[in-house]
Amino acid sequence: MTVIDLTVRQSNILEIVKQAGPITGKDIADKLGLSRAALRSDLAVLTMSGLLGARPRVGYYYTHKTPSDYIATILGNIQISDAHSLPVVIRENCSVYNAIVTMFTEDVSTIMIVSEGGFLEGVVSRKDLLKASMGDRNLTELPVKVAMTRMPNIIVTTPDEPVLDAAKKLLNHQVDALPVVKVVVVDKTEKLQVVGRFTKTNITRLFVQLADTGYSI
Ligand code: ADP
Repeated sequence: MTVIDLTVRQSNILEIVKQAGPITGKDIADKLGLSRAALRSDLAVLTMSGLLGARPRVGYYYTHKTPSDYIATILGNIQISDAHSLPVVIRENCSVYNAIVTMFTEDVSTIMIVSEGGFLEGVVSRKDLLKASMGDRNLTELPVKVAMTRMPNIIVTTPDEPVLDAAKKLLNHQVDALPVVKVVVVDKTEKLQVVGRFTKTNITRLFVQLADTGYSI
């Protein structure tokens, strides 16, 4: 996959910096016979993509990194705790009807089912609830636990996991959301306390945020 296509001018700048770096923006502009202002956006692209580094009073230098190294480093450094949302949870005795209402009112596509103390019992998705709604059943009487995917088959993430690893879990397991959990020991057994949710929307938001504001490593 080609991550970045450089223009002729950007390739020329890269060559100059490879040969003469560290070099100031003004010196690069002089070598190309252009103004410093004319180069501003090209230099921004080259530094944002990680091909060039920039240090005040030193100038631009070649990083010996490819853009994909740079992107992997950035994503590997962002943790779930920087990107997750608050969890939307219901208790296991909640009805399928109320789970559907919660999905609408909270505007989420996955709900986590917890026991007392906020410990993970299961997750229920839109399609789980659609499936449970087919047929002639009274949804106000039907408990959500009959429709949910239950522990220990839940794929989870933790606050300190890199978002890149969690994103791979979403893809590999073909799910839209992961409960963010903290492991706590209760009566000598490990339990997963739900502290957040990490969804494809969080990744989309992060993606746009990285493009808009950048992220330094
Ligand atoms: P939908 O089925 O509405 O498209 P998902 O693709 O997220 O939503 O869910 C697919 C199936 O996987 C559902 O049966 C759901 O209960 C289950 N599921 C959702 N999230 C997880 C998860 N984090 N771990 C395990 N199973 C999950």
